[in-house]
Amino acid sequence: MALLSDVGHQTLHQLSQASMTSIAKHLPTRYKTAPTKAQEPLIPSPDTFGQLESPAPPATPAPDPSPLLPTVAECAVHLELLETFYVLRQRILKSETLDTVFDLKENPREVTRRDGTKLRLKDTTLWTRREQKWHKYLELAVVRFLAWWKSAPCATAATRNSHPTFLEERLPPLDVIMVWHAALLNPATFKSRYRDSRGYKLHFPWRAIHQAIDHGPWTYQLRAEASQAFKKVTGLEADLFAQLESWASLPTPARTALTTFTVGTHHDSTLNVLTQGSAAHHLLQCVQTADSTLALGLREAIIRQTSFVDKMNAHLWIRSPALGGTLRRARSRYDNFLQLIRRHPTTMMVPTLDIDLVWHTHQCSAAEYRTAMLTLAGKFVNHDDSIVKSTLSGGFARTTALFRVHFAAEYPICGCWDCEALLSALVGEGRQREGDAGEDDNDDAQQPALDTVVEKVAADVAYHRAVELARRAKKPLPVRERA
Ligand SMILES: [Zn+2]
Repeated sequence: MALLSDVGHQTLHQLSQASMTSIAKHLPTRYKTAPTKAQEPLIPSPDTFGQLESPAPPATPAPDPSPLLPTVAECAVHLELLETFYVLRQRILKSETLDTVFDLKENPREVTRRDGTKLRLKDTTLWTRREQKWHKYLELAVVRFLAWWKSAPCATAATRNSHPTFLEERLPPLDVIMVWHAALLNPATFKSRYRDSRGYKLHFPWRAIHQAIDHGPWTYQLRAEASQAFKKVTGLEADLFAQLESWASLPTPARTALTTFTVGTHHDSTLNVLTQGSAAHHLLQCVQTADSTLALGLREAIIRQTSFVDKMNAHLWIRSPALGGTLRRARSRYDNFLQLIRRHPTTMMVPTLDIDLVWHTHQCSAAEYRTAMLTLAGKFVNHDDSIVKSTLSGGFARTTALFRVHFAAEYPICGCWDCEALLSALVGEGRQREGDAGEDDNDDAQQPALDTVVEKVAADVAYHRAVELARRAKKPLPVRERA
């Protein structure tokens, strides 16, 4: 990290932006497109997830200095999962079928111009009103999570080193994962509520989640046996989104009943308009009998996570040319962050976004997190995502100061693709392992010319941007000519 203390992250950001803008002029603006789907680039690279595929420790690489921390591969799957949450929310907000289910219509307003002609104005409230679909989806998701949690995973415990085949075969649906994830991110509450359940010991099923996610469109597909297992233990449909859309064909009273109930309230009249024994009827029964305080608390926990999901989507590290480097550095910075907590137990440490990602990943395996914290941070560290902004900014300033003192490195990072890719290139990511990157004090002779490095990085970043733009435009992805 010597680089950061030498140059300063702001300077680095400006340097990378300026250099890349000048170099970008010389880069080819068009790439060839992949002739077939099979020839399209894989971003993120499957290599990133190598550690998931072989749970046994690999034979050759240097020993991991911190086996108690989540792996880079797990953090990468976490990014995939957050992107999948992001896309799910967008799909729900934009679904016109669900607009029908919730009776959401555009209310155009007409204004009369001075000359007497009429002008139709677009309804600007529709987008806000569409949020209610998401809130109802979350309410149902919470109820489904509670039904699932009572049954399946708690029956068996799995740890990181035993193959968590139980959850691989019986991975729950995406909405249930989302609730479980939000619950885990309030570790103190989760511990007090579930510590005695065997489900507390579960290692989060990163590998199975990775396999369920299609990282092109960020969709989530359960295996048939997992869907069946979920139906069997909960009596609920596996795909909540599809179930909600299917309500569009129900008669109006049934639709109104389904979209206006709230958790924990009993209205027999609501149930009466639904066919006895139908999937919708059973779902509403679960809603009516759910613990409303718990359910609404969990729903709020997911809503609080929305801004983190949005930030991860905005940074889009999962598609960045520096993904591996960003996560390795984040993991090492998280390790430093925990050391700060250990050395300053009464100071509230506030994480940066990259450290927060590793921290969240860690919390997803509750029992392992607890053990690791006692060892690494010297105490159980709660993660409270409801702290007000002003408190956080004071804490952030103190953390920044302490980080400089203890590690002689800048604490905040920019996080943009350009800075991250340049940083990876300059610290020799791939050639050197993290941690020893800043050891050389007099390394002018060993460093390649900055221009050469910047040129390569600019080409990498430009290409990755072109791929992402093509993906968003639903066009065939560009390929790079091999030099
Ligand atoms: Zn930057």
